[in-house]
Amino acid sequence: MIPYGRQCLDDDDVAAVVSALRSDFLTTGPAVAAFEGAVAAYVGVSQAVAVSSGTAALHAAMHALGIGPGDEVVVPPITFAATANCAVYVGAAPVFADVDPETLLLSPRQVAARITPRTKAVIAVDYAGQTCDYAALRAICAPRGIALVADCCHALGARDEAGVRAGAIADVSVLSFHPVKHITTGEGGMVLTNDPALADRARAFRSHGISQDAAARSAHGPFGTWEYAMEELGYNYRITDLQCALGHSQLRKLDGFLALRRRFAALYDALFADCPGIEPLARRPGIDHAYHLYVTRLPAARRKAVFEDMRRRGFGVNVHYIPVHLHPFYRRTFQTGPGLCPTAEAAYERLLSLPLHPAMAEADVRAVAENLRQALADAPAR
Ligand SMILES: *Cc1c(COP(=O)(O)O)cnc(C)c1O
Repeated sequence: MIPYGRQCLDDDDVAAVVSALRSDFLTTGPAVAAFEGAVAAYVGVSQAVAVSSGTAALHAAMHALGIGPGDEVVVPPITFAATANCAVYVGAAPVFADVDPETLLLSPRQVAARITPRTKAVIAVDYAGQTCDYAALRAICAPRGIALVADCCHALGARDEAGVRAGAIADVSVLSFHPVKHITTGEGGMVLTNDPALADRARAFRSHGISQDAAARSAHGPFGTWEYAMEELGYNYRITDLQCALGHSQLRKLDGFLALRRRFAALYDALFADCPGIEPLARRPGIDHAYHLYVTRLPAARRKAVFEDMRRRGFGVNVHYIPVHLHPFYRRTFQTGPGLCPTAEAAYERLLSLPLHPAMAEADVRAVAENLRQALADAPAR
Protein backbone atom coordinates (compact mmCIF):
# COMPACT_ATOMS: atom_id res chain seq x y z
CA MET A 1 0.00 0.00 0.00
CA ILE A 2 1.33 3.45 -0.91
CA PRO A 3 0.09 5.62 1.99
CA TYR A 4 -1.16 9.19 1.44
CA GLY A 5 1.74 10.44 3.53
CA ARG A 6 4.65 9.03 5.50
CA GLN A 7 7.99 9.99 6.99
CA CYS A 8 11.23 9.96 5.03
CA LEU A 9 14.16 8.99 7.28
CA ASP A 10 17.80 8.26 6.38
CA ASP A 11 20.79 6.95 8.29
CA ASP A 12 21.84 10.47 9.29
CA ASP A 13 18.47 10.97 11.03
CA VAL A 14 19.01 7.73 12.93
CA ALA A 15 22.58 8.80 13.81
CA ALA A 16 21.30 12.15 15.13
CA VAL A 17 18.88 10.39 17.49
CA VAL A 18 21.51 7.88 18.62
CA SER A 19 23.88 10.71 19.41
CA ALA A 20 21.19 12.43 21.51
CA LEU A 21 20.56 9.10 23.28
CA ARG A 22 24.24 8.93 24.26
CA SER A 23 24.33 12.55 25.46
CA ASP A 24 23.68 13.85 28.99
CA PHE A 25 20.18 15.05 28.16
CA LEU A 26 17.26 12.96 27.03
CA THR A 27 14.82 15.85 27.41
CA THR A 28 14.94 19.66 27.64
CA GLY A 29 18.64 19.81 26.82
CA PRO A 30 20.55 21.64 24.09
CA ALA A 31 18.82 19.87 21.19
CA VAL A 32 15.50 21.57 21.98
CA ALA A 33 16.89 25.11 21.79
CA ALA A 34 19.00 24.23 18.74
CA PHE A 35 15.95 22.90 16.87
CA GLU A 36 13.86 25.91 17.91
CA GLY A 37 16.56 28.29 16.67
CA ALA A 38 16.92 26.46 13.36
CA VAL A 39 13.17 26.45 12.62
CA ALA A 40 12.85 30.12 13.67
CA ALA A 41 15.70 31.05 11.30
CA TYR A 42 14.22 29.00 8.44
CA VAL A 43 10.73 30.49 8.82
CA GLY A 44 11.94 34.00 9.67
CA VAL A 45 10.58 34.63 13.18
CA SER A 46 12.38 35.63 16.38
CA GLN A 47 10.62 33.22 18.77
CA ALA A 48 10.01 29.47 18.62
CA VAL A 49 8.71 27.19 21.37
CA ALA A 50 8.89 23.44 20.66
CA VAL A 51 6.23 21.30 22.31
CA SER A 52 5.03 17.69 22.34
CA SER A 53 2.55 17.97 19.43
CA GLY A 54 0.88 20.37 17.05
CA THR A 55 -2.20 20.09 19.22
CA ALA A 56 -0.19 21.17 22.29
CA ALA A 57 1.14 24.08 20.22
CA LEU A 58 -2.42 25.18 19.39
CA HIS A 59 -3.39 24.90 23.06
CA ALA A 60 -0.31 26.89 24.11
CA ALA A 61 -1.15 29.57 21.52
CA MET A 62 -4.69 29.93 22.91
CA HIS A 63 -3.32 30.18 26.45
CA ALA A 64 -0.59 32.67 25.49
CA LEU A 65 -3.20 34.90 23.83
CA GLY A 66 -5.24 34.89 27.03
CA ILE A 67 -8.30 33.29 25.45
CA GLY A 68 -10.78 31.82 27.92
CA PRO A 69 -14.40 31.27 28.92
CA GLY A 70 -16.87 33.57 27.17
CA ASP A 71 -14.53 34.17 24.22
CA GLU A 72 -15.13 33.07 20.64
CA VAL A 73 -12.51 31.77 18.22
CA VAL A 74 -13.34 31.69 14.50
CA VAL A 75 -12.09 28.55 12.73
CA PRO A 76 -12.67 26.85 9.35
CA PRO A 77 -14.51 23.50 9.23
CA ILE A 78 -12.16 21.92 6.65
CA THR A 79 -9.32 21.07 9.03
CA PHE A 80 -8.18 18.53 11.56
CA ALA A 81 -10.36 18.67 14.69
CA ALA A 82 -7.44 19.96 16.82
CA THR A 83 -7.77 23.42 15.21
CA ALA A 84 -11.18 23.86 16.85
CA ASN A 85 -10.50 21.72 19.93
CA CYS A 86 -7.84 24.14 21.19
CA ALA A 87 -10.51 26.81 21.71
CA VAL A 88 -12.58 24.33 23.73
CA TYR A 89 -9.54 23.40 25.88
CA VAL A 90 -9.38 26.98 27.22
CA GLY A 91 -13.15 27.23 27.72
CA ALA A 92 -13.84 29.33 24.62
CA ALA A 93 -16.34 28.59 21.86
CA PRO A 94 -15.21 27.75 18.34
CA VAL A 95 -17.26 29.55 15.69
CA PHE A 96 -17.15 27.93 12.26
CA ALA A 97 -16.76 30.20 9.23
CA ASP A 98 -17.09 28.74 5.75
CA VAL A 99 -14.31 28.28 3.21
CA ASP A 100 -13.62 29.45 -0.32
CA PRO A 101 -15.15 26.89 -2.73
CA GLU A 102 -12.08 26.67 -4.96
CA THR A 103 -9.21 26.53 -2.42
CA LEU A 104 -11.09 25.42 0.73
CA LEU A 105 -9.15 28.09 2.63
CA LEU A 106 -10.95 30.15 5.27
CA SER A 107 -12.98 32.83 3.46
CA PRO A 108 -12.32 36.34 4.82
CA ARG A 109 -15.87 37.36 3.82
CA GLN A 110 -17.31 34.49 5.85
CA VAL A 111 -15.04 35.36 8.79
CA ALA A 112 -16.28 38.97 8.75
CA ALA A 113 -19.85 37.67 8.98
CA ARG A 114 -19.01 35.62 12.09
CA ILE A 115 -17.28 38.34 14.12
CA THR A 116 -19.05 39.32 17.35
CA PRO A 117 -18.00 41.43 20.35
CA ARG A 118 -16.79 38.14 21.91
CA THR A 119 -14.42 37.20 19.07
CA LYS A 120 -10.86 37.08 20.44
CA ALA A 121 -9.01 35.15 17.74
CA VAL A 122 -9.27 33.82 14.20
CA ILE A 123 -7.37 30.61 13.41
CA ALA A 124 -6.67 30.30 9.69
CA VAL A 125 -5.53 26.94 8.33
CA ASP A 126 -3.08 26.79 5.43
CA TYR A 127 -5.04 23.84 4.09
CA ALA A 128 -3.14 21.37 1.88
CA GLY A 129 -0.06 23.63 2.06
CA GLN A 130 -0.91 27.04 0.61
CA THR A 131 -1.13 30.21 2.66
CA CYS A 132 -4.49 31.87 3.32
CA ASP A 133 -5.39 35.43 2.36
CA TYR A 134 -3.79 36.87 5.51
CA ALA A 135 -3.92 40.48 4.25
CA ALA A 136 -7.72 40.29 4.09
CA LEU A 137 -7.90 38.43 7.41
CA ARG A 138 -5.64 40.98 9.08
CA ALA A 139 -7.80 43.83 7.79
CA ILE A 140 -10.71 42.23 9.65
CA CYS A 141 -8.81 41.32 12.83
CA ALA A 142 -6.37 44.17 13.49
CA PRO A 143 -8.83 47.09 13.86
CA ARG A 144 -10.89 45.02 16.33
CA GLY A 145 -7.94 43.79 18.40
CA ILE A 146 -8.60 40.20 17.33
CA ALA A 147 -5.55 37.92 17.30
CA LEU A 148 -4.71 36.28 13.98
CA VAL A 149 -3.42 32.72 14.45
CA ALA A 150 -2.11 30.51 11.63
CA ASP A 151 -2.40 26.74 11.81
CA CYS A 152 0.54 26.06 9.48
CA CYS A 153 0.63 22.32 10.12
CA HIS A 154 0.28 21.76 6.35
CA ALA A 155 2.47 24.58 5.18
CA LEU A 156 6.06 24.44 6.47
CA GLY A 157 8.10 25.85 3.58
CA ALA A 158 5.22 27.66 1.83
CA ARG A 159 5.56 31.36 0.98
CA ASP A 160 2.92 34.03 0.48
CA GLU A 161 2.68 36.57 -2.38
CA ALA A 162 5.40 38.69 -0.74
CA GLY A 163 7.75 35.75 -0.23
CA VAL A 164 7.10 35.58 3.54
CA ARG A 165 7.16 32.05 4.84
CA ALA A 166 4.15 30.34 6.41
CA GLY A 167 4.73 30.65 10.14
CA ALA A 168 5.90 34.27 9.92
CA ILE A 169 2.68 35.89 8.62
CA ALA A 170 0.13 35.77 11.46
CA ASP A 171 0.55 36.99 15.06
CA VAL A 172 1.12 33.42 16.24
CA SER A 173 1.66 30.33 14.08
CA VAL A 174 1.68 26.64 14.83
CA LEU A 175 3.52 23.69 13.27
CA SER A 176 3.19 19.92 13.68
CA PHE A 177 5.96 17.35 13.28
CA HIS A 178 3.72 14.30 13.05
CA PRO A 179 5.18 11.70 10.62
CA VAL A 180 2.85 12.67 7.76
CA LYS A 181 3.91 16.34 7.93
CA HIS A 182 6.86 17.87 6.04
CA ILE A 183 9.43 17.00 8.70
CA THR A 184 8.94 14.78 11.71
CA THR A 185 9.94 14.36 15.33
CA GLY A 186 7.63 11.34 15.79
CA GLU A 187 5.20 13.52 17.71
CA GLY A 188 5.95 17.21 18.09
CA GLY A 189 4.91 20.75 17.38
CA MET A 190 6.02 24.36 17.64
CA VAL A 191 4.65 27.80 18.41
CA LEU A 192 6.17 30.59 16.27
CA THR A 193 5.84 34.34 16.86
CA ASN A 194 7.74 37.61 16.84
CA ASP A 195 6.26 38.56 20.23
CA PRO A 196 8.67 37.65 23.09
CA ALA A 197 5.96 37.98 25.76
CA LEU A 198 3.68 35.52 23.92
CA ALA A 199 6.59 33.12 23.52
CA ASP A 200 7.40 33.35 27.24
CA ARG A 201 3.82 32.47 28.14
CA ALA A 202 3.86 29.51 25.74
CA ARG A 203 7.22 28.39 27.14
CA ALA A 204 5.95 28.43 30.73
CA PHE A 205 2.73 26.69 29.66
CA ARG A 206 4.81 23.86 28.19
CA SER A 207 6.23 23.10 31.62
CA HIS A 208 3.44 23.33 34.24
CA GLY A 209 3.26 27.15 34.13
CA ILE A 210 6.65 27.38 35.83
CA SER A 211 8.37 30.50 34.64
CA GLN A 212 11.99 29.61 35.32
CA ASP A 213 13.71 26.78 33.51
CA ALA A 214 16.70 24.87 34.86
CA ALA A 215 19.22 27.11 33.11
CA ALA A 216 17.76 30.29 34.63
CA ARG A 217 17.77 28.68 38.07
CA SER A 218 21.45 27.75 37.87
CA ALA A 219 22.21 31.44 37.25
CA HIS A 220 21.51 32.03 40.94
CA GLY A 221 25.04 31.00 41.90
CA PRO A 222 27.41 28.07 41.85
CA PHE A 223 25.00 25.87 43.82
CA GLY A 224 21.81 26.96 42.05
CA THR A 225 18.57 27.28 43.98
CA TRP A 226 15.55 25.13 44.79
CA GLU A 227 13.24 28.03 44.12
CA TYR A 228 10.81 28.20 41.26
CA ALA A 229 7.43 29.78 40.85
CA MET A 230 4.37 28.21 39.28
CA GLU A 231 2.71 31.38 38.03
CA GLU A 232 -0.12 29.87 35.99
CA LEU A 233 -1.67 26.47 35.38
CA GLY A 234 0.35 24.74 32.69
CA TYR A 235 0.87 21.23 31.39
CA ASN A 236 3.70 18.87 30.64
CA TYR A 237 3.87 19.59 26.92
CA ARG A 238 7.65 19.26 26.72
CA ILE A 239 9.35 17.66 23.75
CA THR A 240 12.46 15.50 24.22
CA ASP A 241 16.02 16.06 23.03
CA LEU A 242 15.74 12.79 21.11
CA GLN A 243 12.83 14.18 19.13
CA CYS A 244 14.46 17.56 18.54
CA ALA A 245 17.68 15.91 17.35
CA LEU A 246 15.55 14.10 14.77
CA GLY A 247 13.67 17.27 13.83
CA HIS A 248 16.87 19.24 13.37
CA SER A 249 18.32 16.55 11.13
CA GLN A 250 15.06 16.46 9.14
CA LEU A 251 15.03 20.24 8.74
CA ARG A 252 18.28 20.06 6.75
CA LYS A 253 16.38 18.02 4.16
CA LEU A 254 13.22 20.11 4.10
CA ASP A 255 13.99 21.97 0.87
CA GLY A 256 14.69 18.67 -0.88
CA PHE A 257 11.42 17.23 0.45
CA LEU A 258 9.53 20.31 -0.74
CA ALA A 259 11.08 20.08 -4.22
CA LEU A 260 9.88 16.47 -4.54
CA ARG A 261 6.38 17.29 -3.25
CA ARG A 262 6.12 20.14 -5.78
CA ARG A 263 7.44 17.99 -8.63
CA PHE A 264 4.96 15.19 -7.88
CA ALA A 265 2.08 17.67 -7.55
CA ALA A 266 2.96 19.21 -10.92
CA LEU A 267 3.03 15.72 -12.44
CA TYR A 268 -0.44 14.93 -11.00
CA ASP A 269 -1.67 18.25 -12.41
CA ALA A 270 -0.36 17.35 -15.87
CA LEU A 271 -1.77 13.82 -15.74
CA PHE A 272 -5.26 15.06 -14.78
CA ALA A 273 -5.34 18.05 -17.13
CA ASP A 274 -7.45 16.21 -19.72
CA CYS A 275 -9.67 14.40 -17.21
CA PRO A 276 -12.71 16.54 -16.38
CA GLY A 277 -13.96 14.16 -13.64
CA ILE A 278 -10.80 14.71 -11.57
CA GLU A 279 -10.58 18.32 -10.46
CA PRO A 280 -7.57 19.32 -8.33
CA LEU A 281 -8.05 22.15 -5.84
CA ALA A 282 -7.34 25.65 -7.11
CA ARG A 283 -4.16 27.46 -6.18
CA ARG A 284 -3.96 31.06 -5.03
CA PRO A 285 -1.86 33.03 -7.52
CA GLY A 286 1.66 33.98 -6.46
CA ILE A 287 1.80 31.44 -3.63
CA ASP A 288 4.67 29.02 -3.20
CA HIS A 289 2.69 25.89 -2.25
CA ALA A 290 4.18 23.41 0.24
CA TYR A 291 1.89 20.51 -0.83
CA HIS A 292 1.30 18.65 2.38
CA LEU A 293 -1.70 17.19 0.56
CA TYR A 294 -2.64 16.69 -3.06
CA VAL A 295 -6.42 17.09 -2.97
CA THR A 296 -8.74 16.32 -5.88
CA ARG A 297 -12.48 16.71 -6.25
CA LEU A 298 -14.48 13.88 -7.82
CA PRO A 299 -18.16 13.64 -8.70
CA ALA A 300 -19.80 13.22 -5.28
CA ALA A 301 -21.86 10.22 -6.39
CA ARG A 302 -18.69 8.25 -7.24
CA ARG A 303 -16.34 9.35 -4.47
CA LYS A 304 -17.01 6.45 -2.07
CA ALA A 305 -16.71 3.79 -4.77
CA VAL A 306 -13.46 5.35 -6.03
CA PHE A 307 -12.06 5.56 -2.48
CA GLU A 308 -12.78 1.87 -1.87
CA ASP A 309 -11.49 0.77 -5.28
CA MET A 310 -8.26 2.74 -4.82
CA ARG A 311 -7.71 1.19 -1.39
CA ARG A 312 -8.36 -2.24 -2.94
CA ARG A 313 -5.78 -1.43 -5.61
CA GLY A 314 -3.20 -0.65 -2.91
CA PHE A 315 -3.29 3.16 -2.88
CA GLY A 316 -3.79 4.83 0.50
CA VAL A 317 -6.11 7.58 -0.61
CA ASN A 318 -7.84 9.50 2.16
CA VAL A 319 -10.36 12.27 2.81
CA HIS A 320 -9.27 15.56 4.42
CA TYR A 321 -11.50 16.40 6.16
CA ILE A 322 -14.92 15.55 7.57
CA PRO A 323 -16.12 19.11 8.37
CA VAL A 324 -15.33 19.56 12.07
CA HIS A 325 -18.74 21.02 12.91
CA LEU A 326 -20.38 17.75 11.79
CA HIS A 327 -18.60 15.65 14.44
CA PRO A 328 -20.88 14.40 17.24
CA PHE A 329 -18.95 16.30 19.94
CA TYR A 330 -19.52 19.65 18.24
CA ARG A 331 -23.16 18.92 17.38
CA ARG A 332 -23.80 17.97 21.00
CA THR A 333 -21.75 20.68 22.71
CA PHE A 334 -22.14 23.67 20.41
CA GLN A 335 -25.38 22.78 18.56
CA THR A 336 -23.61 22.79 15.18
CA GLY A 337 -24.80 20.68 12.25
CA PRO A 338 -25.51 20.54 8.52
CA GLY A 339 -26.24 23.91 6.94
CA LEU A 340 -23.79 25.86 9.10
CA CYS A 341 -21.04 25.88 6.42
CA PRO A 342 -22.68 24.81 3.15
CA THR A 343 -19.60 25.29 0.95
CA ALA A 344 -17.45 23.08 3.17
CA GLU A 345 -20.21 20.48 3.44
CA ALA A 346 -20.67 20.29 -0.35
CA ALA A 347 -16.91 20.18 -0.96
CA TYR A 348 -16.46 17.39 1.58
CA GLU A 349 -18.70 15.09 -0.50
CA ARG A 350 -16.22 15.33 -3.38
CA LEU A 351 -12.79 15.31 -1.69
CA LEU A 352 -10.08 12.71 -2.16
CA SER A 353 -6.42 13.13 -1.13
CA LEU A 354 -3.92 11.19 -3.22
CA PRO A 355 -0.61 9.78 -1.96
CA LEU A 356 2.05 12.51 -1.88
CA HIS A 357 5.32 12.32 0.04
CA PRO A 358 9.05 12.38 -0.67
CA ALA A 359 9.48 8.62 -0.19
CA MET A 360 7.46 8.08 -3.41
CA ALA A 361 8.94 7.75 -6.89
CA GLU A 362 7.66 9.36 -10.08
CA ALA A 363 6.46 5.90 -11.18
CA ASP A 364 4.26 5.76 -8.05
CA VAL A 365 2.66 9.09 -9.00
CA ARG A 366 1.95 7.79 -12.51
CA ALA A 367 0.51 4.57 -11.08
CA VAL A 368 -1.79 6.48 -8.70
CA ALA A 369 -3.01 8.72 -11.52
CA GLU A 370 -3.61 5.84 -13.95
CA ASN A 371 -5.45 3.79 -11.34
CA LEU A 372 -7.55 6.78 -10.32
CA ARG A 373 -8.67 7.30 -13.90
CA GLN A 374 -9.61 3.62 -14.12
CA ALA A 375 -11.33 3.60 -10.73
CA LEU A 376 -13.37 6.64 -11.72
CA ALA A 377 -14.35 5.11 -15.06
CA ASP A 378 -15.38 1.87 -13.31
CA ALA A 379 -17.22 3.52 -10.43
CA PRO A 380 -20.99 3.14 -10.39
CA ALA A 381 -22.79 6.30 -9.37
CA ARG A 382 -24.04 5.89 -5.83
C1 LIG B 1 -1.50 17.61 12.09
C2 LIG B 1 -2.40 18.75 12.33
C3 LIG B 1 -2.67 19.24 13.62
C4 LIG B 1 -2.26 18.55 14.89
O1 LIG B 1 -0.96 18.18 14.97
P1 LIG B 1 -0.51 16.98 15.94
O2 LIG B 1 0.98 17.14 15.91
O3 LIG B 1 -0.97 15.71 15.28
O4 LIG B 1 -1.10 17.20 17.26
C5 LIG B 1 -3.43 20.39 13.74
N1 LIG B 1 -3.93 21.02 12.67
C6 LIG B 1 -3.73 20.55 11.41
C7 LIG B 1 -4.31 21.30 10.26
C8 LIG B 1 -2.98 19.40 11.21
O5 LIG B 1 -2.82 18.92 9.97
